[in-house]
Amino acid sequence: MEKIPYKIYLTEDEMPKAWYNIRSAMKNKPAPLLNPGTHEPMKAEELAPVFCEELIKQELDNDTEYFPIPQEVYDFYKMYRPSPLVRAYCLEKALGTPAKIYYKFEGNNTSGSHKLNSAIAQAYYAKMQGLKGVTTETGAGQWGTALSMACSYLGLDCKVFMVKVSYEQKPFRREVMRTYGADVTPSPSMTTEIGKKILAEHPGTTGSLGCAISEAVEVAVSTPGYRYVLGSVLNQVLLHQSIIGLETQAALNKYGIKPDMVIGCAGGGSNLGGLIAPFMRDKINGDLDCRIIAVEPASCPSFTRGKYAYDFCDTGMVCPLAKMYTLGSGFIPAPNHAGGLRYHGMSSILSQLYDDGLMEAVAVPQTEVFKAAEQFARVEGILPAPESSHAIKVAIDEAMKCKETGEEKTIVFGLTGTGYFDLVAYQKFHDGEMDDYIPTDEDLAKSISALPPVD
Ligand SMILES: *Cc1c(COP(=O)(O)O)cnc(C)c1O
Repeated sequence: MEKIPYKIYLTEDEMPKAWYNIRSAMKNKPAPLLNPGTHEPMKAEELAPVFCEELIKQELDNDTEYFPIPQEVYDFYKMYRPSPLVRAYCLEKALGTPAKIYYKFEGNNTSGSHKLNSAIAQAYYAKMQGLKGVTTETGAGQWGTALSMACSYLGLDCKVFMVKVSYEQKPFRREVMRTYGADVTPSPSMTTEIGKKILAEHPGTTGSLGCAISEAVEVAVSTPGYRYVLGSVLNQVLLHQSIIGLETQAALNKYGIKPDMVIGCAGGGSNLGGLIAPFMRDKINGDLDCRIIAVEPASCPSFTRGKYAYDFCDTGMVCPLAKMYTLGSGFIPAPNHAGGLRYHGMSSILSQLYDDGLMEAVAVPQTEVFKAAEQFARVEGILPAPESSHAIKVAIDEAMKCKETGEEKTIVFGLTGTGYFDLVAYQKFHDGEMDDYIPTDEDLAKSISALPPVD
């Protein structure tokens, strides 16, 4: 058999020319966004004050299979794509496993993660609409960085609300965003009504994505020429991220490889939704027998301990309601949670696929994640982002099961980014100061009991 190279690259010409919409293959479509007042499905015109027009069309379209990638976005992609699919020969050897491990590496761009794939698309549609700028939230900072890069490339203003704990822990992220011309505000802030309200109710709070979203939406709807953009969770974001899965499948196809398992970390679900899109289609159509595994932090366990219900997407309850696996919009992960993936909810698409039994989910404690990160870094060279390391952890666990059984399974996982801005977390891990706080059933019952009553 032909030897598989360490890296399977696609040529520029082999890069997919359209995004794939996984909803078109789903028998049970994801539940629609609801108007928080009337509980009726949101119409395009109701979303228009918040989101860009073209993105609303993508958001609401459950049927179109492929959306052509606009030329300007495609040209931008070419600066850092196609991304490599790496055969983890060194990791396989270190583990002594007969499993064949591949990872799709999305960290080879300055923003350091897959988020640039959707940032440039969203900024492009905002520009096409003639807008002046966009607002957004950022948690760990990767999305804000990606959006800043995309906006500066296209000449748009970019206002970022950054979760306060990250703003303080990651000052250099902020400087990268400012280098690309973004305006960065720690959230909650006194610059918005909702920020003032949250600070009055929870003085000293370190913030959450839910708070930051509320602030960014408030500024978008109250500033002429602005719209709000979101880096995860939404259907449109999973659509743009399908470039990850399409490239992965095209690279595997070059060598006739079919995965037995596809593994990805899940925060809001965008990288995972993108990575699995073509594999899930094949699975739904009966063309591929493959396990699909979402990995989430035990400290923010939306899939494994959340409830499948309509919930608010933000703390301020200004956004539409989405049906998803959720811990409740009032859930704020413990401040010692360092490993990213802090969002209380999950993509509606992935939630439906999980509910339909087409996908599995595993929750892992954070010290285990950092152990896996270090193990990986030492043999494969790449310093992984803590988020990505959730997937590494489960890929290693599955490879070790293969070692016991002697099965030569093919494992593909998403390595979503690099960890250069997460060195405070690595430091805590190395100094033995990281703990594994896992919310109690009472903690979760409290935030889940506050779900909005929707039948
Ligand atoms: C944002 C981020 C994630 C999680 O977001 P998803 O929308 O679940 O993909 C994972 N890894 C990295 C490196 C990120 O920046």
